[in-house]
Amino acid sequence: MAHELDIVPGTEWGCFTLPRPMCIAGPCSAESEEQVMETARGLHAFGIHVFRAGIWKPRTHPGSFEGIGTPGLKWLRRVKQELGMWTCTEVASEKHVLECIKYGVDMVWVGARTSANPFLMQEIADALSGTDMPVLVKNPVNPDIDLWIGALERLNRAGIRKLGVIHRGFSTSEPIAYRNDPGWKIAIELRTRYPQLAFFADPSHMAGDRKYLLELSQRAMDLGLDGLMVESHCNPACALSDAKQQLMPADLQHLLESLVIRDNTSDSQAYKEGIDALRAQIDVLDENLLFTLASRMKVSAKIGQYKRDHNVAILQAGRWEQVLADMVEKGASYGLSEQAITAIMTAIHDESVRVQNEVLKA
Ligand code: PEP
Ligand code: MN
Repeated sequence: MAHELDIVPGTEWGCFTLPRPMCIAGPCSAESEEQVMETARGLHAFGIHVFRAGIWKPRTHPGSFEGIGTPGLKWLRRVKQELGMWTCTEVASEKHVLECIKYGVDMVWVGARTSANPFLMQEIADALSGTDMPVLVKNPVNPDIDLWIGALERLNRAGIRKLGVIHRGFSTSEPIAYRNDPGWKIAIELRTRYPQLAFFADPSHMAGDRKYLLELSQRAMDLGLDGLMVESHCNPACALSDAKQQLMPADLQHLLESLVIRDNTSDSQAYKEGIDALRAQIDVLDENLLFTLASRMKVSAKIGQYKRDHNVAILQAGRWEQVLADMVEKGASYGLSEQAITAIMTAIHDESVRVQNEVLKA
């Protein structure tokens, strides 16, 4: 079911001077007045206008640094007063929202653990009702696009029109290089459904490690997203949370300057941007295909072991003919030719037999 959202685009909020990439930066957590001010000055020096800092931190384990709480809001107010930057922080309850309003925080975001919870989303939407604050909603921890849209709807129904989203990837139990599964296809789907929604990527939480920030930020730009929220700390090695993924302000400046941003000022530029966005989608799909193939081969290896343990031959011709016939039939319903499906499935089957033979030899 398509839902309408009544939205003011991010370029009209008054805080992003350049249309793309809109950039929000600052530490994972506000830790001390000095750390907040030094980081904010470093970011302000090269034109960052929106400063983030977590005041209340949703941590997996109790006892890790759970945020400085309300005293940190005074430091954000100082950033605003002295540097003229917009400030934003994460809210997860009515109390957080009321404190932010009281201390003049300019913008808030809802974290991934909270956007997954309709009760909290409603509480936050009710508390924000009547304000003009821009609100950014991170994707829920699980890849459920409707839960994400539902969170946006609750805010929109409460009168919040300066709405945006932050894609930070999804929790996964698979062993992957990044902290979160990027799951770009959900971002593409949401972007397609609501092209007017200010759309940020959070490469920091997606990556979990600063060494992946550039490739993920470039991917976000190639997919045509509007902006980035990046964690930056004046001394990342000493950060009280997410130390591995934070960047010194100067390194963030370098990263932003390294990004290739395609704008659409001329027809040929528009073409280039369009084709690059489509190719980025293809790259994501190809990576998904590789992942699926690798998972399939792992199952093949298990089947090999099973057959070996039960003394059964690898090639079961009847079973393979049945698989191929089913796939050709299903493929046709997706508009895929018999020839293509036969070639692809035969190649996959050959590799699967090879994997099973390896198991048998071992
Ligand atoms: C954060 O932005 O500091 C944060 C906790 O992010 P997420 O909700 O994406 O985990
Ligand atoms: Mn963080």
